[in-house]
Amino acid sequence: MEGKLIVAVVQENVMRNNSEDSLEYTRLDLYDNKELDNGFNEILTSHSFEKEKIVKNLREKTAMLTNLLKPGFEISYGYPPRPKFEVFGGYKIAKRRQASLAADFSKVKIYNLYFRYSNGNGLGNLNTSAMVYRNKQEEVILLSPQDTKQENSRLTNTYKNIATDLVLKQGSMNPDEQSKLLDNLKLLTVNERCAQSLQHEYGHILHGRLFDSLGLKNAADIYNWFFQHGYAHLMNKRSPEFQSASSWDKVYLLKESLVEDYRIWLNMKDNNDMFILPNINTYYGDFITPDLLKEGVILMKKMLNDAINNSFKTNQTENFSGEPNRILRSLDIYEKASSTNWKPGSNTMSEQDHLQVMEDLKSLDFDESKLEHEQSQVMAELKEFRKRKNIRNPKKFREPKELREYKELDKETLYQS
Ligand SMILES: [Zn+2]
Repeated sequence: MEGKLIVAVVQENVMRNNSEDSLEYTRLDLYDNKELDNGFNEILTSHSFEKEKIVKNLREKTAMLTNLLKPGFEISYGYPPRPKFEVFGGYKIAKRRQASLAADFSKVKIYNLYFRYSNGNGLGNLNTSAMVYRNKQEEVILLSPQDTKQENSRLTNTYKNIATDLVLKQGSMNPDEQSKLLDNLKLLTVNERCAQSLQHEYGHILHGRLFDSLGLKNAADIYNWFFQHGYAHLMNKRSPEFQSASSWDKVYLLKESLVEDYRIWLNMKDNNDMFILPNINTYYGDFITPDLLKEGVILMKKMLNDAINNSFKTNQTENFSGEPNRILRSLDIYEKASSTNWKPGSNTMSEQDHLQVMEDLKSLDFDESKLEHEQSQVMAELKEFRKRKNIRNPKKFREPKELREYKELDKETLYQS
């Protein structure tokens, strides 16, 4: 494992003859571009010529990933790769909810990475569980390795503890909302968690396409778009950290929250209004005043409507977004909110304040790529927070044996599918 750069390509075969569409899973080592095992269907393996063609095709598809690994990149092998059943399960759920359809699925590629990586310059992040990368030619979703089962129980406990505190100590959360939260968190299986990551990343693809088509090239334009739709205003009501965040981070928080509302909307329409996993940035306000979440989802739909109904094909900019560590974000937000006695729903930013943010952003004159770089500030803060709280990294690989078990798991499901 160490020294190798293993990636699994998830591909869908759309069958013409009414039989069920099938998923393929092929593991390649990016270093030597060698296929490690194959996830092809019997029908394909019986035609070796056909298979050759597909492997060649896959190599071309991973060329972009190899390009991402620019000199100086960092790699972490400290997380177990997601097994195939998790990725397939998540993919099927996200597809059923049409997360993919809205984003013109055939064009978006999904990779299951067996390593975490960062180029040390804002692209990629060692703390993130999923990422999306767009450039002129391609849009790809990268799933980072993680122990999703463990992650789920830690995350569920974090939200449970916070809700208990809000109900019992602060008296700000309605106990009915607390039980609703618990019912939602119960839906968080390993496959479901993976679907949530995919839905989040599809949200980034959608707004990326929309920004391109609207010609929103710099952060001031993007902030203005959020402001004009009332989303910046609503954000201030939902987030305890929005008002005091830097102008750069405000844009980051807006984009992340928008895709979270997109993810939640997909859950709600498929699942009797269940949100499953709270909005990473606005959960605190949403727990106390649940109408704020509904408002966010309605606004988001209006804002992304053009992108949801039409598949924009133009990608003029190169950008990269990652899903932040939810547990650390939740604790950080909780600490900020409880130390400032923040209350959701209050309007603490005037129109003038919002216009001032745009002026700031204009004077900084940054483009999308700089913004992505700046986002690492938020990650740096998280690192600080982790240190301060003495929160240890998720369980590390101790022995190669553990890896062998994961490989076995892969094989098992390969034969089952
Ligand atoms: Zn994100």
